[in-house]
Formats: sequence, structure tokens, C-alpha cells
Amino acid sequence: MTRDDRQADAGYHTNRIGKEGLIPKGGRAWRYVPLVIALAAASPYAQPASTSHSKEYVTTLASDRFEGRLAGSNGERLASEYIASQLQRIGAKPLPGHTDFRIPFAFTAGTRDGGSWVGAGKTTSRFDQRKDVQALSFSDNGDVADAPVVFAGYGIVVPETQNFGYDSYATLDVKDKVVLVLRYFPEDADTQTKGILARYADLRYKAMAARQRGAKAMLVVTGPHSPNAGETIPMSFDTALSGSGIVAASISASVADSMFRQLNDPAKTLEAAQTSLDSANPHVAGFAMPNVAVSIHTAVVREKRTANNLVAYLPATGSVSGVPKPWIAVGAHYDHLGRGENGNSLAEKSEVGTIHHGADDNASGTAAVLGVAEALASGQRRRNVLIALWSGEELGLLGSTAFVNAPPIPLDQLEAYVNFDMVGRMQDNKLTVQATGSSPVWPRVLEQANVAAGFDLLAQEDPYQPTDVASFNQSGVPCINVFTGTHTDYHKPSDTADKIDYEDLDRVVTFAATIVGRVGAAADAPQFTKVEQKTESGSRAGVRLFTGTIPDYSTEVKGLLLSGVIGGGPAEQAGLQKGDVIVEIAGQTITNIYDYTYALEVLKIGEPVKVVYQRSGERREATLTPSARK
Ligand SMILES: [Zn+2]
Repeated sequence: MTRDDRQADAGYHTNRIGKEGLIPKGGRAWRYVPLVIALAAASPYAQPASTSHSKEYVTTLASDRFEGRLAGSNGERLASEYIASQLQRIGAKPLPGHTDFRIPFAFTAGTRDGGSWVGAGKTTSRFDQRKDVQALSFSDNGDVADAPVVFAGYGIVVPETQNFGYDSYATLDVKDKVVLVLRYFPEDADTQTKGILARYADLRYKAMAARQRGAKAMLVVTGPHSPNAGETIPMSFDTALSGSGIVAASISASVADSMFRQLNDPAKTLEAAQTSLDSANPHVAGFAMPNVAVSIHTAVVREKRTANNLVAYLPATGSVSGVPKPWIAVGAHYDHLGRGENGNSLAEKSEVGTIHHGADDNASGTAAVLGVAEALASGQRRRNVLIALWSGEELGLLGSTAFVNAPPIPLDQLEAYVNFDMVGRMQDNKLTVQATGSSPVWPRVLEQANVAAGFDLLAQEDPYQPTDVASFNQSGVPCINVFTGTHTDYHKPSDTADKIDYEDLDRVVTFAATIVGRVGAAADAPQFTKVEQKTESGSRAGVRLFTGTIPDYSTEVKGLLLSGVIGGGPAEQAGLQKGDVIVEIAGQTITNIYDYTYALEVLKIGEPVKVVYQRSGERREATLTPSARK
């Protein structure tokens, strides 16, 4: 599964559990006591393989030889060859019209600035140091010569549908001009307003707003009242293959100041401009900057790589003519984080740069897909069973997105998709099934399959999950994701094969094979239900705030149990350590991760707060000073 920075504290929350935790939406948990085990043990559709290969699959995929299976790496290539050989052994075929299981896709594996510069004004010299100018990772590569400049405040446009009037461009004409905007959002607004503005303060969103109004380029400066004041923005990891349609760069305070100075008005400074905007009064506007002209050159170097999805199928055993939607699919991502080089790693300080084995994430899911395929290979199949192993999931669902964007079989012929992401670390017999809101058939199907399986089943309706199921939901395909829950080895090198519970993994395989068998044999294809995406809470406002805590999601301790702290971060500096349980911060009681996320929103960067925590049963206090996230 992929990480998502929408969570509150500096991206160190796995959004896997992020929004809902293990609590089913609507408060409903399905728990069926397996009273009829003896009767229901045999399913007519799935014949579990007599000898399970799960351990062999996981141990091989998570071995050092595959180097953490980073998309586009040699380790990923070796893993794809191994999986291809297993698909062959199982008897799966390349898709109709294909001769190979591999379906390659290209992506951007990294970006760097290859020499951007800004010339502010005809008379001043050119700024070309990275401390003064950096292209934004999504910028087009291009040149702008001597263009007029408009200062557009925070550059935020809140859509009218939000019933909240805020449009930085309302009174400005920026056509064919360069817009200069402040990073982030008004600093002194109340929490609720900040929450709304923060949602539209993403730099990509600001760039889009500027482009839609005809601007030639967008320059971003971090105001003197904001975190990281005056600094340029480091190039972020961005997997887009090309630019966003506008030249966009961040500039330092010195570059911005040199532009403001040319206004020859001592009252007009960057600081004064920010101060007037910081109350978020929607009637305070930006202004044109007469006599100021800038030239911009942006050079984003995008390193292209190719990764491989593996796609195979087990043909239906009879004719599919007259069968509605004659395909069903199972899939999992097989890529992982390599040595953690792309910023998704949660490795402890001592193990940074070492192989992230990804046994649970997601050698376990890969093993489950192969296991389900093997179970279905020997039985009768009314529909074709598509078997997919995705790459690039950890970099942002790249493989499954490439698949649905250029589907090798028509997606309207696909009746359902079953995904596995982290299914090897079951705790207390709990099995989570996500995205059940994507079709009305799922509750019944799961309930039936669970009669024999006997899991403590937790259902989550939300299909907008940080895993490949999201790509299929977006394409209108009924789908579910199977998940045994997260743990303290998540996205760390210590996610190793010896920690997998293979017996429970095989129970998951049997359960899923039953589901795929039943749905695949049904006369009617399941109906798709579009679930509305919940608007995010205001937690983006807290994204800039960094406390350096690594919460442990796998326990039900009252408070926030830390599975670690980030080296050199505020929590470590406050003396907190692994195993501590935070029970209070800034006077707010913390009983769970949600309380903590909420509490973070009222903290301020640089303002010390009291933290109360338990260590070995002893109550302690510390002072923590949140810092700004870089
Ligand atoms: Zn992951």
C-alpha cells in the first residue's frame, strides 16, 4: 500500500488506516460465528491446492536478491521474471493478443532542477542559484521573456460549490502575465477558514488556477510570516511524465524583494502585502506590479523508467457467449520500496538505505493472487479469470492506473476486481475488507464465504483507498480490497518473511478463492455503486506541522502509542521514545489517533506545548515544540 501525505503529521501516518481505522463505516462490523464449519468446508468452486506455495512465494519475493522490488529497478525485473515463471507453472495464459505476461509502462522515477533561473527586472542580474530559484517538480520546461508581473496574494481559488467566497484572482487580469503568489494560505485565519483554504492551497492547484486564467507562469514565494520563510521549495518526488501546462518556480525572499523594490513605494513590501492578506478577508486583493518585468527559464529533468505489470488469465472452461461481463479479476501489487530512496520509507535511523523487504507489503498479496489462481485453475470457470500483479503501486498506483487508462480487455466486460494488499499479518482473526460500498452484492457474498472461513470480518465501504482498488473503483468496476491490518514493520526494512503467518494467509486465499469462484459463476454481473468521496477534513491545515512521532496503529492502547520517533525531530528532542503512550497534548486528552490528528490542528509551529505520556506505566511530562515540515 502506498502512503498518503494527507494525514496530519508530516506524512508519518499510514493512510491505510488513516480515515477510518479498523472501524467499519456506519459502525457495523460483521461477525459471524462459524457454526456450520463441518457442512460448509468444501466450496464447489475453489479447490485449495493441497500443498500451499505461499511461504515459498513470500520468502522468494522478500529475499535480498530482489532488493525491495522498487518499480523500474533490477530487483523489480527479477521479481517479475519469478512471478511470470509461477504464472506459467499454474497454467495461466497471456491475454488474448499478447505473447508475454509483462505489460510495460513508463513513468518518471525522479526529478531534479537542471538549471532554472529568474531575471527580475531588466536591470537586475539573473538569479540562478538553487537557494534563489527552483522549478516546481510539475513545471513545464520553458522560457518567459520580460513579462509583466501581477502579485496575486495567496493564489487561492475556492470553487463556488463550496459556498465560501475566496478568489485571489477576482479583481485581477493576469492574461499573458506572470503571477507571483504566496505559498500556503492566510496565516491568521480561524481554524475553520484555514481548513477550507488549505484544501485549495496545494501548489498544483494554485498552478492550475493561474493557468486557467491565462497566466504565462507562476512564481511562488514563502512569505516572511510563514514557516520556511523566504526559502525556495525543494523539488518533490513527482511521477508525472510531463509538465502541468504552466511554467512554475519557487523563488527566495531576495528575488521577490528585488521585484517589490522596483515598485518604488516604501509601503509596498512583501511583508506588508502578506500582512494585509493574512486575515483571509476575501476583499483584500493582490495588485499589478507596474514597471516590473521578469524573465524565467525552467528546466525540470525527469528521469524516465519502465516498469512491468504482469497480466495473465485463466480462460473460461465453457463458451462465454451470452455471459454478461465475461471477465473477473484478481490482483495485487508486487513492487515495494527498494531501499526506501523515494521518500515513502519509515525506516528507523539505523536502517536507512537498507533493503525494504516488503514481505507483508506486498509479497503476501502477490502470494494470495497466485494462490487464488492456482485454486481456480483446476475447477470449472464460467468467466475468464484475469490475474494481475501490479508494479509502481508504492509510487502512486502507477501500474493499475496505466492498466485502466489503456485496458488490454474492455473494462465494461469486467464484472468485478478483488485486490489484496497486506494480507500476511492477521491479528486476532481479524480480516478487513475495504471498498464494499462499490457494489450491493458484497455484504452477502462476504457473509456467505465467511461461513466456512470464520473470520472476524470488518467491512469498510469506502473505495477511495490508497491501493490499486481505487483505480478500478474509478473505472466503475465493483471491487474489494482484502487486508489483515497494519503493524509496526510497515514500510520498514523489518517487514520480513519470517513474520508472516502462513496458515492465516492460506485461509485468506481459500476465502478469496471462494468469493471469486462464486461471483465468477453468477448468472448476473454485480451492479456498480458509485460512492461519493468524502471531502477531506481540515487536516491539510496541519500538514505543515511536524512533531516527528511515528504512531503505532496495531494496538488498542488508550492514547497514542509510539512505534518510534523521527531522529532529530521535535518528539525526540522532547525526550519521547518508542513505547511511550501520549495521553495529552496542549491540554487535550488523547485517547486514539483521531484525537491526536485533531489536536495537531491547533498546535502552532515553534510554540512549545506540554505533552503528557506514560512510560512503563509511569506518568511523565515533556515540552514539545512542533517544527515546520520541509
Ligand atoms: Zn506500501
